[in-house]
Amino acid sequence: MFNSCILCPRNCGVDRTTTLGVCQVSNRVKIARAALHFWEEPCISGTKGSGAVFFSGCSLHCVFCQNEKISHGQVGKEVTIDELAEIYLALQNQGANNINLVTGTHYIPQIVESVKIAKANGLEIPIIYNTSGYEKAESLKQLEGIVNTYLPDFKYMDSSLAAKYSHAADYPEVVKEDIAEMVRQCGTPVFDDNGFIQSGVIVRQLLLPGHVKDAKAIIKYLYETYSDNIYISMMSQYTPMPQIAANYPELNRRVTKREYDSLINYAIDLGVENAFIQDRAVAKESFIPEFNNYLN
Ligand code: SF4
Repeated sequence: MFNSCILCPRNCGVDRTTTLGVCQVSNRVKIARAALHFWEEPCISGTKGSGAVFFSGCSLHCVFCQNEKISHGQVGKEVTIDELAEIYLALQNQGANNINLVTGTHYIPQIVESVKIAKANGLEIPIIYNTSGYEKAESLKQLEGIVNTYLPDFKYMDSSLAAKYSHAADYPEVVKEDIAEMVRQCGTPVFDDNGFIQSGVIVRQLLLPGHVKDAKAIIKYLYETYSDNIYISMMSQYTPMPQIAANYPELNRRVTKREYDSLINYAIDLGVENAFIQDRAVAKESFIPEFNNYLN
């Protein structure tokens, strides 16, 4: 599979044992952080935290990336599949509500194997797959029965924005197909008695400054397509990173209260009820975790 990698829509076709594709990582699993994480939606993090494993590398590379150090594969530590399974178990032992696999697109086969090993050794908490939404639906099929909850982004409805900011004009069509596959696999959200999600789909929309219109088109599409069979998480936490100012000055500011309120009010007027909204105070760089933090 890795000798001519076409795992994701980039279809690089490179031999990842010798050459790097767009995701910038080899066939060996590299992780940038594995730790309890407290800044996801309340039904994921709670007070005990989500057991987040941040994978190094990314196949999308948004110009405004909030985690650029890891998306370019610059930081991280290689682990074997057995070690990855042990990390899941260690996070469970620390009290994590779930295992939260962050940007694992380019490691789907290893994720499948590691979860199987961990489950055989006592992993019981749900598996969350946290993704940019730029996946091949046929690759996601490998995760059926492995992942309990999908947490995809829906970044752009307008393909010209997807081309400009992520060099992926096909993003809107790809993410629509992915979410359909995710809902097929996981169905309507199910929560336990404490309000923690056990299965289902939560779609995240990170509002970009100046792009309320596109965000509204996304919310409209999601609600008209899935009604209340998914949750929508409307995020205001966009933080302009240092790399953005020179080439994309329009993104070099935070989202205003007026922009975010406009999006929320639009969703309410549409009839959206299953949604998460954010306190704008979270738009701080300090909420972006430090990387190079491993359990072992
Ligand atoms: S997983 Fe990486 S190498 Fe494979 S197609 Fe995607 S970007 Fe290219």
